[in-house]
Amino acid sequence: MLHSFTYLAPRTRAELHSVLANEGAAASLLAGGTDLLVNVRAGLARPKVVVDTKKVDDFAGIAWSEREGLVIRAGATINAVLDDAKIRSDYPLLVACARDLASHQIRNRATVVGNVVNASPCADMAPALLCLRAHAVIGSKSGEREIPFSAFFKGVKRTVVAPNEAVERIVVPAASAGARGGYYKLKRINGHDLGIVSVALSIERGGEMRLTVGSCAPTPVLIEGLDASLPADAVVAAVLAAISPISDVRATKEYRLHMVECYVRRLLDEVRS
Ligand SMILES: Cc1cc2nc3c(=O)[nH]c(=O)nc-3n(C[C@H](O)[C@H](O)[C@H](O)COP(=O)(O)OP(=O)(O)OC[C@H]3O[C@@H](n4cnc5c(N)ncnc54)[C@H](O)[C@@H]3O)c2cc1C
Repeated sequence: MLHSFTYLAPRTRAELHSVLANEGAAASLLAGGTDLLVNVRAGLARPKVVVDTKKVDDFAGIAWSEREGLVIRAGATINAVLDDAKIRSDYPLLVACARDLASHQIRNRATVVGNVVNASPCADMAPALLCLRAHAVIGSKSGEREIPFSAFFKGVKRTVVAPNEAVERIVVPAASAGARGGYYKLKRINGHDLGIVSVALSIERGGEMRLTVGSCAPTPVLIEGLDASLPADAVVAAVLAAISPISDVRATKEYRLHMVECYVRRLLDEVRS
C-alpha cells in the first residue's frame, strides 16, 4: 500500500526554499513523478513531504538568448525539448538523446531536471548535457550556485544537490549551439527501454570532440579535449581507457566494451562525414 505523505505545491521560489529549509531530507521534490512515484509505489522512497515543483513561478519552459544560451527550466519536459525550434535547429545532440528516452507518454511528464537528479548511470539526457558543456543552477535559501555537469554526478543515484536545494534550471552555453552530434543506445528490446550502454559524441564549432558513455561506470563518463580529426583507433583507445563497465543481469562487461567500440566508430563515421 502507498504510504501517506503531505503534499505541498509552493507557488514561488521563496516558498519552495522555505519548505526545503524546514523539511530537509524528509522532503522529496516532485516534477513529472516518473521516477519518484515509481519509487514511492515500490516502497523504495518514503518521503514525509512531497513538494510539487510544477506550480512554482519561473520553473516552466525553455528559453534561448545569445547572452545566456539555452535555458531549460526545472518544469521543462522531454517532449518540450523535442518541440523547441531552437533546440531542433542548433542542439541536435539534445534531440537525439531526448528522442531515445522512454515513450511519448512518459516524455510528456518526465523532465530533463528530474532525469539528471535521479542520476541513473543510464540516464539519457546526461550524455548530451555533458558533451555540450551544460551546467545546473541550484537554488536554496542561501542563494544560487552553478555546477557544471562534469562535477554534478557523485555516484549511482547520487549528485551534489543537497536536501535543502532544488535544481532550478539547466543552462547549455550559446557557444555549444551548432555542435554536430549523435547518440546510440543499446537496449534489450527494439521499443523503449533503459540503456545497456550508450555513447554520445559531439564536435564543437571550434573543432574539439567530446564523448560521453552511459552505463559503463557509476556515473556517465565524459571524455573531452579530443581533436576532431583524431584517428578512430585513438578515439576508441581513449574511450575504452576511461570506462569501467561491469557484468550484470543485463549484459557482460565484454559485450558492453564491444558495443561501446562499435558505437564510437559508427558515430565517428556519421558525425564527421
Ligand atoms: C516506463 C518508464 C520508462 C523510462 N525510460 C527511461 C529511458 O528510456 N531513459 C531514461 O533516461 N529514463 C527513463 N525513465 C526514467 C524517468 O522517466 C526519467 O528519469 C525522467 O526524466 C525523470 O523526470 P521526472 O520529471 O519524472 O522526475 P521525478 O520523478 O519527478 O523526480 C526524479 C528525481 O528528481 C528529484 N527532483 C525533481 N525535481 C527536482 C528539482 N527541481 N531539484 C532537485 N531535485 C528534483 C525528485 O525528488 C526525484 O528524486 C523511465 C521511467 C519509466 C516509468
